[in-house]
Amino acid sequence: MTFQRRTVLGGMTALAALHATGACAQNRRKRVGVIGGGLIGASIAAQLAKAGADVIVFEKVRPAAGATEKSVAWINPVVNDAHYMKLRLQSMAAWLEDDRALGMKAIWGGSLSWAYSDKKDSLQKKATLLEATDDPPRYLTGAQITKAEPGILPGDGVELAFQTAKDGHVDPVFATQCYLAAAKRLGAKVLYPCEVTAIKVRGGAVVGVATTKGDFDLDHVVSVTGTDTPRIMALLDRKLELAHKPGLVVHTAPRPVTTKLVYEASSILEFKQYADGRYLTSFTSGPPNLPQHAEILQHQMAYPDPALQQRHGELLIERTAQYMPAIAGATPTKVLLGFRPYPLDNKPIAGPVPGVKGAYVVVTHSGITLAPILGRHAAQEIMTGVEAPILAPYRPTRYITA
Ligand SMILES: Cc1cc2nc3c(=O)[nH]c(=O)nc-3n(C[C@H](O)[C@H](O)[C@H](O)COP(=O)(O)OP(=O)(O)OC[C@H]3O[C@@H](n4cnc5c(N)ncnc54)[C@H](O)[C@@H]3O)c2cc1C
Repeated sequence: MTFQRRTVLGGMTALAALHATGACAQNRRKRVGVIGGGLIGASIAAQLAKAGADVIVFEKVRPAAGATEKSVAWINPVVNDAHYMKLRLQSMAAWLEDDRALGMKAIWGGSLSWAYSDKKDSLQKKATLLEATDDPPRYLTGAQITKAEPGILPGDGVELAFQTAKDGHVDPVFATQCYLAAAKRLGAKVLYPCEVTAIKVRGGAVVGVATTKGDFDLDHVVSVTGTDTPRIMALLDRKLELAHKPGLVVHTAPRPVTTKLVYEASSILEFKQYADGRYLTSFTSGPPNLPQHAEILQHQMAYPDPALQQRHGELLIERTAQYMPAIAGATPTKVLLGFRPYPLDNKPIAGPVPGVKGAYVVVTHSGITLAPILGRHAAQEIMTGVEAPILAPYRPTRYITA
């Protein structure tokens, strides 16, 4: 199954629909440039193409090369804010649709989270909000965890634990490729490596971009550039600050498949196993404040030295093996240093860039969870100008001023 461009009916309906969707005043399709080929940019591109836009994706490295390929890619509603949880739940419903339509091979096995005393209260807050959803937490004791999941040993001192049934996880690089392939089938172009170096604005409105592959005339641009968003906003003479949030992710060589769940150990580790047997494990918080991490804690970078990278890989597998012995001794195949696109309040930024007609920005953490819903709403707002009420609390105006 694939995405299909929306059918336009005849007569008056046709005219109204054309204006409401892909057409400009000059009666041609809206030309929309999507800057950034991560999962969210790819989702927006697919939805824009589906709505009839003439779409070009500009990606400076390769699809998914930013935060997307360094993600744990756990699809979940779990946050401590009810409105934000609602947005995430809507995205999970949209995920099911897109997974079915595009064959993204997401694994819908649920999740298991536990906390020791120091993290109990924050996990309880999230669990309480989940109680009101259609996937309420199933509470467990430490002993019940191992009974339910014999491969998991949380040890002593578990003060709160719960399982959910509907969370999922995905290979985020493959999912990005699926969205981009869908966009291309609907006529979109995907250019990489192709960096946007300037955004052309005339009379307060976007008219095009300059890139390393030449200039392009456009009616709209969407910045979906993750941690590079402040740079793109600077091209529009706008200031945006993001938090600096490094993360470490290790992929291993395949082992026999034992689980479909995503595990979260007291905000220390998150880990999962792909259907082909590869494990992925990650330290939930950033690197501790040690001299060897000084640079990483200051700015984005590649690994400062291969010895540290190797040590991090081994350490993460050792730590994970304390909770899931099956991973012990697995060979690390990728040790990735990632940087989360992290708005200062850890909530999405999505909407028109203040004061620049035709410019739209999306930047968020949890973007693997949120890509399907943000794709739908961004495309609708760009194509029709009709605002999605659920995005009201997440507007760029709270951090970007004209
Ligand atoms: C360690 C870690 C763990 C995470 N775990 C989860 C999780 O479990 N669940 C979850 O939902 N989310 C998770 N996230 C967050 C999630 O990965 C991101 O929110 C999501 O990938 C953002 O997608 P994006 O498309 O907006 O940005 P990105 O994937 O960062 O893509 C931005 C793209 O823009 C391109 N670009 C930048 N500047 C330009 C330019 N001038 N011209 C052209 N292209 C440009 C970059 O090359 C990049 O490919 C995690 C992130 C990290 C780092």
